Amino acid sequence: MRPAAFDYHAPATIDEAVALLGVHGANARVIAGGQSLVPAMTARLARPTHLIDINRLPRAERPAIAGGRLRIPPLMRHVDFEVPVADSPLGAVLAELSAAIGQLAVRMRGTFCGAIANGDPASEWCLAAVVLNADVIVRSKARGVRTIAASAFFETILTTVMADDELVVEVQLPLLADTTRFGFSKIARRHGHYGAALGLCIYDRDETRMRDVRIGVGAVEAVPRRLSVVEALLERQEPSLRLFRQAADAAADTVSPIDSAPDDISHKRDLTRTTVRRALEASLP
Ligand SMILES: Cc1cc2nc3c(=O)[nH]c(=O)nc-3n(C[C@H](O)[C@H](O)[C@H](O)COP(=O)(O)OP(=O)(O)OC[C@H]3O[C@@H](n4cnc5c(N)ncnc54)[C@H](O)[C@@H]3O)c2cc1C
Repeated sequence: MRPAAFDYHAPATIDEAVALLGVHGANARVIAGGQSLVPAMTARLARPTHLIDINRLPRAERPAIAGGRLRIPPLMRHVDFEVPVADSPLGAVLAELSAAIGQLAVRMRGTFCGAIANGDPASEWCLAAVVLNADVIVRSKARGVRTIAASAFFETILTTVMADDELVVEVQLPLLADTTRFGFSKIARRHGHYGAALGLCIYDRDETRMRDVRIGVGAVEAVPRRLSVVEALLERQEPSLRLFRQAADAAADTVSPIDSAPDDISHKRDLTRTTVRRALEASLP
C-alpha cells in the first residue's frame, strides 16, 4: 500500500520545525530516520496530512559532552554510536546497544531521538534511557523547553507524554564512573529483529560488592522499566552465578507482561528470567 497524501515540509532550523509543529499539531508528524514512521504510513496506521522532515537541520558529527552529561541531538543515527562516543563506560554501553539494533540499513537511517519519540517498549534506546537516567528535552512554540525524566516519559506502548506540537531537541545521559560494569542481553527470534526480551544491568563495585545496581527490562511490559525489587536483592552483595540466578527468578516473578494468554505470559516470564541472568553474567570480567 502507498501512504495517504500529505504536504511535505523541510525546515532548515529547529525554530522553523517547532513553528510548523505549532501550526499543524495533531495533523503533522516529524520524520527523522523514517524507520518506524514510513512502515506505519505505508500500512496507513499513521496518516499525517503534514510531514515535517528534520533531515535538513544542522547536524553534529558527535554528541557533545558538557557538565558530566552526554548530549544527543536529533539526527544522531544508531550507527553513530558503534564507535564509542565517550571515554566513560557510557560510550561502551551505547556501542553495544547500537550494534544490536535491527540490520545495518536500519542503523544507518534510524535516529536515537526518533526511537525515544517513538516509544517502542522493545527499543534498545528506550531501555537505555530509563536505565541510564536520561532526560528528554522537548521544545514547542507554545510552551518553550520542557525537561522530562525518561522514567516519566514513556506512557504505554508507542505512547509518550510528549504533546503533538513538541519536538525532541536533545536527550541527555549522565556519564558513568570509570569503575562501572554493565551487561546487556537481547533475545530475538531472528538476527536483525526487534527483541522479544531485553535486559540491561549497570552497577559499580565497592571492593568486592555491587553497589548502585540498576536492572532494566524491555519488550516485556508496555514500557521499559527498572526492576527495583531485583536491584534491592543485588545491592551490596558479592556477584556470583548463584546470586544472578536468584535475581533472574525475582525478575521473572515481578514483571507484568503485556501478553494476555496464560502461556504467552509464562513464556515472557521465562524470557525475562533468561535475559536478566545473561545480562548479569555478561557484566562479569
Ligand atoms: C526491519 C526493522 C528492524 C528494526 N529493529 C529494531 C531493533 O531491533 N531495535 C530497535 O530499537 N529498533 C528497531 N527498529 C526501529 C528503528 O530503530 C527506528 O529507527 C526507530 O524506532 C525510530 O527512529 P527513526 O529516526 O527512524 O524515527 P522515525 O521513523 O522517523 O519516527 C518515529 C516516530 O518518532 C517521531 N519523531 C522522530 N524524531 C522526532 C523528534 N526529534 N521529535 C519528535 N518526534 C520525533 C516521528 O514523528 C514518529 O512518530 C527496526 C526497524 C525496522 C524497519
